[in-house]
This record gives sequence, C-alpha cells and structure tokens, in this order.
Amino acid sequence: MCSVGDTFGSIEIPQFESKLYKCDDCKNEFKGIGKKVVCPACMSKKVALINNE
Ligand SMILES: [Zn+2]
Repeated sequence: MCSVGDTFGSIEIPQFESKLYKCDDCKNEFKGIGKKVVCPACMSKKVALINNE
C-alpha cells in the first residue's frame, strides 16, 4: 500500500478558531487565527475583533 497521500487533495481544513477582524488602518476585514493577528493587506497590528457569529 503506497497510496498514502492520494487523498490529500480532498481533505477539508477545519475552521479552527478563525475570527473576523477589521484593520484600524485600512479598514480591511479579514479572518484571523491566533493571538498575533496582523492585517494581511497592510501588515498593521492595529486590528479590532469583530463579533460576527
Ligand atoms: Zn490593514
């Protein structure tokens, strides 16, 4: 059995604790994971957590 890895393409990555953030600099909204969240658009650390459930 050497077919390990054949199913990699169909594995769905579970949504861990991704939360919605909004950048305070460029107003970009994005999903962040973890504690060190930075804006993917401008790399700013001034992001605010949005409670959107
Ligand atoms: Zn930004």
